[in-house]
Amino acid sequence: MTTRRLFDVAVLGAGPAGLTAALQCAETRRVVVCTPRVLDLPTPLRVDCIPAQTLVLLGELGIEPTVIGASLPTGRVRQAWTSSGSEDVLAARTFHIERHRLDRALLARALSNANIEFTSFVHRPEFRAHVFVGDGWRAPLIIDASGSAAVMAPKRFHPVHPWAARTWLIGAKQDDIKGFQIAALPEGYVYRLGTGSHTTVGVVGASRFVRAKPEDILARLQEVGCGWILEALEPFTKRQPSWGGRGSLQWSSLSMLPVLPVGDAAIARDPLSSQGLATALSDALSAAAVVDDAALELFRSRHCTNLANHISSLASHLRSCRWRDAPVWAQYLRFLMGHAQTSTGTVTFLSHGRLTSAVRAS
Ligand SMILES: Cc1cc2nc3c(=O)[nH]c(=O)nc-3n(C[C@H](O)[C@H](O)[C@H](O)COP(=O)(O)OP(=O)(O)OC[C@H]3O[C@@H](n4cnc5c(N)ncnc54)[C@H](O)[C@@H]3O)c2cc1C
Repeated sequence: MTTRRLFDVAVLGAGPAGLTAALQCAETRRVVVCTPRVLDLPTPLRVDCIPAQTLVLLGELGIEPTVIGASLPTGRVRQAWTSSGSEDVLAARTFHIERHRLDRALLARALSNANIEFTSFVHRPEFRAHVFVGDGWRAPLIIDASGSAAVMAPKRFHPVHPWAARTWLIGAKQDDIKGFQIAALPEGYVYRLGTGSHTTVGVVGASRFVRAKPEDILARLQEVGCGWILEALEPFTKRQPSWGGRGSLQWSSLSMLPVLPVGDAAIARDPLSSQGLATALSDALSAAAVVDDAALELFRSRHCTNLANHISSLASHLRSCRWRDAPVWAQYLRFLMGHAQTSTGTVTFLSHGRLTSAVRAS
């Protein structure tokens, strides 16, 4: 008979959400992290944008800004969104980081933690007699951080024709740390951001558009008057490393079992919102605070509120886009409106390491 070691928590997935949850839980509990491939994790080669508070939070987890390529903050966006002309708008203070370096730094911390063990994910865990049974382990609680695979989700929701995303990592000039740039097209949008040593160009939208040749994407940008977004940048081509991904919203329904979906496994936000990492980390910290049934209920209510708020803010952003009536945008907007929910007005937050709820003043 196979021996299955008992852990306090099993974490599925070793992306930012899974590793943060594992590190936080490991302060007081024994954790097993299950990944499809141990120690050879694929990680996106790209520059990501995070809010200033997330950089502070990463510092508290022991990840120094220089390790992940963060330098000067930026507080402006150059965009062609509501009209054809480009405009500079003020935005919340953000930092640009090299995502592959973040994933590696979190992994290194988790690997050196004596309360965390890694194992390969082979089969979906089963729930038997109040405990989950996995490949060589047992645990009473699962934190599902498997990204958009959301392996423990009873159901996943996404548009019938989900948007795709493709990013290129390009050597950059120093001026690329200055800001985030984005241009909307009838088929989706193109964005650019840099850290000073690297720039990422991202193309998001209908999958045919995203898979087009870089020169065709550039021609389309020029046609709609947005060629400026690739100015002073060496051409992005097939020779540069590119990374694919999901480009539109997806979320999971909640399991009746003691499963806590975090990060993209809970709500996979589109790249447009630049909130994926911030919410992955805050979900992970909230999940680590779930120690009894009452906290589990608060965690579930937090998920519902987050989802209602995100759908509403994304829909309003899409409505402000000059291409909102183009078929690709209109279809996405219809999907969002079909799932719009009224927020309960209850906010759930962490206070001194405990999940707490309060009714938001209207
Ligand atoms: C093109 C693009 C650009 C983006 N830009 C930004 C940005 O600028 N700023 C930002 O904040 N966010 C951005 N995001 C979103 C951000 O990348 C995600 O929100 C973030 O990676 C979520 O972290 P996660 O740990 O939940 O999921 P992931 O990073 O997807 O990690 C999930 C992990 O689970 C593993 N896994 C999969 N299946 C299983 C299984 N069966 N068992 C165990 N493990 C499994 C995967 O291998 C992976 O390691 C972007 C996303 C895309 C696609």
